[in-house]
Amino acid sequence: MQSPGFRDTGRFVQRPPQAGIQSPTNLSRLKRCFAPGRNVALPIRIRGAGSSCTDCNESPQGTVVRTTGLDKIVRIDTYNHTVTAEAGIRLGALVAALADKGLELIGSHDQMERTLGGALASPCMGPGIGDQAAYLSSQLLNIKVVTVDGKVIPVSAEQQHLLSAFRMSYGMLGVIYEATLRVRPISTFSASHRSLSVDTFSDVVDRLSEGNVGLKFYLLPHRDRVYVDLRRYEAAAGSTFDTPWKIKDWGESTVLPQVFRSLNRVMPIPSVRYKLIDSITAATQGLVNSKLVNNGNNVASAGRRRRHKPRNLLYSTWCFPAMDFSVVIKAYVKFCREKFHNTGYRCDMPAVGFRLCKDPSALLSPSFDESVFALQTTSTQRRGWDDFVIDLAQFAENWGGTPLFSQSRAFRAEHAQQAYSTRLAFFRKIRHQLDAEKRLLNPYLAQCFA
Ligand SMILES: Cc1cc2nc3c(=O)[nH]c(=O)nc-3n(C[C@H](O)[C@H](O)[C@H](O)COP(=O)(O)OP(=O)(O)OC[C@H]3O[C@@H](n4cnc5c(N)ncnc54)[C@H](O)[C@@H]3O)c2cc1C
Repeated sequence: MQSPGFRDTGRFVQRPPQAGIQSPTNLSRLKRCFAPGRNVALPIRIRGAGSSCTDCNESPQGTVVRTTGLDKIVRIDTYNHTVTAEAGIRLGALVAALADKGLELIGSHDQMERTLGGALASPCMGPGIGDQAAYLSSQLLNIKVVTVDGKVIPVSAEQQHLLSAFRMSYGMLGVIYEATLRVRPISTFSASHRSLSVDTFSDVVDRLSEGNVGLKFYLLPHRDRVYVDLRRYEAAAGSTFDTPWKIKDWGESTVLPQVFRSLNRVMPIPSVRYKLIDSITAATQGLVNSKLVNNGNNVASAGRRRRHKPRNLLYSTWCFPAMDFSVVIKAYVKFCREKFHNTGYRCDMPAVGFRLCKDPSALLSPSFDESVFALQTTSTQRRGWDDFVIDLAQFAENWGGTPLFSQSRAFRAEHAQQAYSTRLAFFRKIRHQLDAEKRLLNPYLAQCFA
C-alpha cells in the first residue's frame, strides 16, 4: 500500500493547486508566492485591507495574497520630505510615524485602516485644497514591484509611463512591495461650514469650486439639505486640536451607522424611522461639523489610529464631470426620491461628495481629462441595496459618470471601456507585456482588461 507520506513528496503525483490566502511577511516569502513552477491556484489577486466594495481584491477559486504582513517603514527623510515603506502598512501607522517627525501625507485622506499599497493601486482620494493633487498615488516617486513571475523590479520617475500605469493599477501589473512618496511638513487649514438647500448648492457649486478651497459636502436628498465643508490654507489658521476631529470621526463612522442599524430594526414605520434618521444626521452635522471643527491639518482630520473592526458600510462611488455637477446633483436628488417612492428603498446615511482636480498622473485616473466630483452613496440598509446600486449605475451612466474599478458597484463593462477609452487600451497593452498568461486577472477584472 502506498504510504500517504510518499504521495506528499509531490514527486510523482502532482497535488491539485490549493486555493486560499497567502500572507507573506517578508520579500522572499512574497516572491515565493509567484515563483515559476509554484503550484498555486489561479487567478492570483492581491489584497491590502480589503476595503474596496467590488471584486477587485477577491479570488474565491484562486489565491489571494494579503500584504498586511509587509508593514515596515523603511525610511523617513525629514530633509527631502519623503517616506519609504512596505506596501502592507496601514495608513494610520504611517500617518502616526510621520506626525512624530512633524510631517503629513499630502491630500485629505481618511480611512486609516487601508494599506499603503491598496491606496496607491486604487483611487485613494479626498477633497484636495485648490489644485492640490487629489490622489495619494500622485505623490509616488518610485516603487519596488514583485512581478507575476516572482522577479523584483524597481520603477522610478524616469520610467514615467510605467509608473503612471502602476498608480491605480488594481494589482493587475504585479504587487507593489515598497513605495517612496513625497510628504510635507504639517500644514494647518481652516474649515468653514454652510448648510444649504439643494437648489442653492447647485447655484453656487461652480463658484465654490473655483477658489483655492477644498470642497466636501454631505447630502440629505430626502431633506433638501447639503452640508458644505470648505477648507483653505490660511497664513494664520490658529491652533489645531485632535479631539474635535476624533469626535467627528466617531460620530460619522461609528455612532450614526450603529444608531441607524438599531432604528432600522426596532422602528417598523418607514416614515417615522426616516424622519428620525434625517433629524439625527442634521443635528450631528450642525453640532459637530459647524461648531466643533474649525481648524485642522491632515493628521488631525484623518486620525492617527485605525479602527480594528471593518466599517461594514455599504457604498458605491462614481465620478461626474465638475462642469455638469450643478445639474447632476439635482438629478441625483430626484433619482433618490423616485427610487424611494417606487421601491421603498432609500439610503439612511448621507451621500458624501468632494471635488477632485484634473490629475493625469495615473493612466487610469478618473480625473485624467478634467476636474470631477466624486459622489459616494452610503447606507447601512442591506435589503434592497443590490437593486438600488444597479439603478444607481444606470443613473450614473446616463449622466456621464466614470466608474472606479474598486468603488463603483454594478457598472457595465462596455460603459467602463467607453469612459476610459484609449487609456484603457494602453493599460491593457502594458498588462499583456507584464502578465501574458493572465494570472492576475479574475473574472471581474477580465471583463474590461482581458
Ligand atoms: C465606508 C467606506 C468609505 C470609503 N471612502 C473612501 C473615500 O472617501 N475615498 C477613497 O478614496 N476611498 C474610500 N473608500 C475605499 C477604500 O478605502 C479604498 O478603495 C482603499 O484605497 C483601498 O485600500 P485597501 O488597502 O483596502 O485595498 P484593497 O481593497 O485590499 O485593494 C484595492 C485594490 O488594490 C490592489 N492592491 C492592494 N494592495 C496592492 C499592492 N501592494 N500592490 C498592487 N496592488 C494592490 C488590489 O488588488 C485591489 O485591486 C471607502 C471605503 C469604505 C469601506
